[in-house]
Amino acid sequence: MAATNLLPYPAATALHPLMDRFGRRHTYLRISVTDRCNLRCVYCMPPQGIEWKARAQILSFEEIVRVARLFVEMGVDKIRLTGGEPTIRHNITRLVEQLAALPGLKTIAMTTNGVLLMEKARALKSAGLTRLNVSLDTLRKERFEKITLRTKFDHVMAGIEAALDAGFQPLKLNVVAMKDFNDDELLDFVEFVRNRPINVRFIEFMPFKGNGWKPTGIVPFADMKRTIEERYSLLPLETSAAVAKDFSIKGFAGTVSFISPMTAEFCEFCTRLRLIADGSIKSCLLFPSEVNLRDALRDGTDDCELVEMIRNAVQLKMEGHSAMAELTTMDNRHMVEMGG
Ligand code: SAM
Ligand code: SF4
Repeated sequence: MAATNLLPYPAATALHPLMDRFGRRHTYLRISVTDRCNLRCVYCMPPQGIEWKARAQILSFEEIVRVARLFVEMGVDKIRLTGGEPTIRHNITRLVEQLAALPGLKTIAMTTNGVLLMEKARALKSAGLTRLNVSLDTLRKERFEKITLRTKFDHVMAGIEAALDAGFQPLKLNVVAMKDFNDDELLDFVEFVRNRPINVRFIEFMPFKGNGWKPTGIVPFADMKRTIEERYSLLPLETSAAVAKDFSIKGFAGTVSFISPMTAEFCEFCTRLRLIADGSIKSCLLFPSEVNLRDALRDGTDDCELVEMIRNAVQLKMEGHSAMAELTTMDNRHMVEMGG
């Protein structure tokens, strides 16, 4: 691993953006605030569940904000809160408020399963959350229960409306497309956004240890697009998003996007880093190496040394991810811990 030559803090942070060995500059941090969840999506966590971390193993808000501040000083301008399920972390709106106060941070987003949005959407908006993604893989109640192993479909549907009412417009809707499971609902989701300011995003199913993934489980982006184009005319949108392919449909309030980590890699343009709830920095979702900051945060390590640890974590990033077959056997974390 390449060592980094540090300038004294704060010059080290301000002058040097977070570059990896391949010249990618990192401006987007995803923070998983908990490994716990109120759903049990079959593609995200193993059926037997995972061993949840004890409270003491999870970063406090103070620790999260300290690390986030360092990232922002090194050029991160977008943070997304995720989980597990971020809305179940006690006082999550307070964390949003604290992050919103960081000078230089332009966007604070959240990805949620939507179960608690009826109660929390307004408070999250008032706290300073700027963007919201809701994950929902089916518009059919019985199927929802098969995917999530929980009976919260009505909560999520009401949560989506509550989020729109609270002003999260456009709202993003994440749909993991799985062959012979929910791929017969692509057109229903498109219809769902006809009169709603929602960007529906179809995501290719990704392999993680123990999540039942098979190559035949993927619905390739090109097939999804072809199916939708049999009924609708998709007009390409010029957006700055490096990972999504975005389209509008004439007369629709909503838009349609595709995210294709499996069939059309976007590693070359990746600007993302991840801070996991236990304090580990992951430079790639699909690669196991990590640098843990928690002990350093608790033993008096100064900001300059933390910056060096963060830069070292970024140097661990590979040019691209491994072949699909290897991803299923790789000793990586479960998706529920990493937050997507
Ligand atoms: N609980 C929140 C939620 O569901 O939105 C945040 C965490 S969840 C792990 C983040 C995103 O990862 C969700 O949109 C979920 O659908 C997606 N996801 C989980 N497992 C996946 C997989 N195997 N392939 C693709 N996306 C996945
Ligand atoms: Fe929970 Fe989100 Fe994973 Fe579903 S996808 S189990 S809601 S963390």
